[in-house]
Amino acid sequence: MDVEAVRRQFPILSQEVNGHPLVYLDSAATSQKPLAVIEAVDRYYREYNANVHRGIHTLSERATEAMEEARAKVARFIHAPAPEQLVFVNNATEAINLVAYSYGSRLAEGDEILLTPMEHHSNLVPWQLAARRTGARLRFIPLLPDGTLDLSQMDRLLGPRTRLVAVTHVSNVLGTINPVGDIAAAAHRQGVPVLVDGAQSVPHMPVDVQALDCDFLAFSGHKMLGPMGIGVLYGKRELLERMDPFLAGGEMISEAELECSTWQELPYKFEGGTPHVVGAIGLGAAVDFLEGLGMDEVFRHEQDLVRHALKVLREVDGVQIYGPEPPRGGVIAFNLGELHPHDLSTVLDQEGIAIRVGHHCAQPLTRWLDVPATARASFYVYTTRDEIDVLARALEHAKEFFG
Ligand code: PLP
Repeated sequence: MDVEAVRRQFPILSQEVNGHPLVYLDSAATSQKPLAVIEAVDRYYREYNANVHRGIHTLSERATEAMEEARAKVARFIHAPAPEQLVFVNNATEAINLVAYSYGSRLAEGDEILLTPMEHHSNLVPWQLAARRTGARLRFIPLLPDGTLDLSQMDRLLGPRTRLVAVTHVSNVLGTINPVGDIAAAAHRQGVPVLVDGAQSVPHMPVDVQALDCDFLAFSGHKMLGPMGIGVLYGKRELLERMDPFLAGGEMISEAELECSTWQELPYKFEGGTPHVVGAIGLGAAVDFLEGLGMDEVFRHEQDLVRHALKVLREVDGVQIYGPEPPRGGVIAFNLGELHPHDLSTVLDQEGIAIRVGHHCAQPLTRWLDVPATARASFYVYTTRDEIDVLARALEHAKEFFG
């Protein structure tokens, strides 16, 4: 992959921050946007902004067509059998809440949801609420010391009352790539469906929902070069058809009477209210961009960066890195001696380096690591080895600065 050519497509990257070239190492929080996405959004507002599905005027038809074309593109990207199995939502969080509310409404007292301790709060708290509403309980596949899942516990934990397994594909802290295909196979042997949180996998590696045989997949457009405010829920047709709507209102009904209503076909049954039309169109442009690079190449590039980062960061005395050996996701959580990550981030920002610090919305995992917080550098298609070297040098400066 010609990273310099890729970088030229991202206008935001060519700026200085605090007198230094920007080194953006926070793509796991949100990715930057290429010109193709910026221009697709701009073109929509300049040329055919209109509400979809309602109007029979030309602009509305153009907007509807563009949104449905984007749905078909994203469906192809994850190898979904049909575009109508793809529901546009705000983000991965909303996608998981949709399942926790709609599928979760069928839970009964004593039913079980199987999760992991490495989940982002988005794939934990919705299940806590579902459990509170229904009397179901949460169980957890334990972690091994290297930050991978102890799958030898799966068969013991998958019991007659297990109703769903919900697991992240890639940890946003440890970078662990979970074998979600194997997890789905084990769950399916007991007749249990599986939700995969793909927020950190779909942007970074080829994901094929049919090969994985997952029942639901949730992800966010803004982490994969697309606009903020657009996300996706993929689901198996028979499950989506059996589920009640999540958001009720305009656009999602077939017939409304004063006392009751009937629902639209998939996916519109789950898309109450005016959708984020321009977000979907921008996401379609992002998918085109990623497909132009090739997802195998994207994954290979990030593995190269991860290996390089592990090498140069380990050379910095006092750095503690969390998570397993590669292959792993392009996120590296670490600490530098006793230095609080917030202080570290402030110093790095002075050198133009953007990283994230804190619990990364995975507090139980931070507790498992037995630290108050971690710093996290995360990579994407536009990240270079040089930028990682700049980070490593800046860590040395930070050590000198704080004595
Ligand atoms: N799941 C994982 C693994 C994440 O890393 C994130 C965001 O960081 C989310 C879910 C939630 O994504 P969003 O805030 O876009 O809904």
